[in-house]
Amino acid sequence: MMTAKESTSGPRLLFVVSAPSGTGKTSLCKKLLSEVPGLSFSISHTTRAPREGEEDGKNYYFTNRDEFEQAVADGKMAEWAEIYGNCYGTARATIQQFMDQGVDVLFDIDERGAQQLREIYPDLITILILPPSIADLRKRLTGRGTETEAALRKRLTQAEEEIARMAWYQYVVVNDTLEDALDQLKAIVQAERCKHNHDFIERLLQEDDGIKK
Ligand code: ADP
Ligand code: 5GP
Repeated sequence: MMTAKESTSGPRLLFVVSAPSGTGKTSLCKKLLSEVPGLSFSISHTTRAPREGEEDGKNYYFTNRDEFEQAVADGKMAEWAEIYGNCYGTARATIQQFMDQGVDVLFDIDERGAQQLREIYPDLITILILPPSIADLRKRLTGRGTETEAALRKRLTQAEEEIARMAWYQYVVVNDTLEDALDQLKAIVQAERCKHNHDFIERLLQEDDGIKK
């Protein structure tokens, strides 16, 4: 007979992580995914060009505007938004695939995407990552070296508005040192898993492994 530990666990958890560009979200998500078992990254579709080192099907599914718009028109996207002139979205099939696999899902999407997902999944867990200061944000964006000067200015001017819009998120993590922020993210995932683990009570009580005989 299956023990409580071996049987399938409770409902799958959906975590959204958002941050102003340059905060360190990509670095943190990468580490979180490599250190927390049972958590999978939702790969988004985007019309933006790949950055150096980015791979199709790993960081994003890179697509063109016609294909993206067609997917939206066909109802294939669970959420989408236009950001800095490019389209970004999560395909319904991407989410379904993880649900079928029985893993928790991590979404790196913006606030508009989070709102759309929350309508479909009211239990969505929302995490806002912030830089310790706007000056640090500028340094990090410049250091990443992926933006032209014009794009950098555009991203910085939008950052403060973006932060204000994300005040409704449930958790706020300040990415001062990467290690501390990562610890906080891990703690959130663990706490949410414990919070939703009540199915375990029933499974434990149903366990019949002959111990009482
Ligand atoms: P985002 O995905 O939020 O745009 P990235 O993960 O690409 O951000 O990080 C932007 C830059 O900031 C990168 O060069 C990264 O190495 C650096 N960075 C990330 N976290 C920290 C941190 N805690 N302290 C200093 N630099 C950081
Ligand atoms: P970047 O171009 O730096 O990879 O991403 C820019 C912004 O797009 C980030 O804030 C990121 O969270 C957001 N983003 C990435 N994928 C999606 C998505 O599928 N949907 C939405 N709404 N935003 C996304």
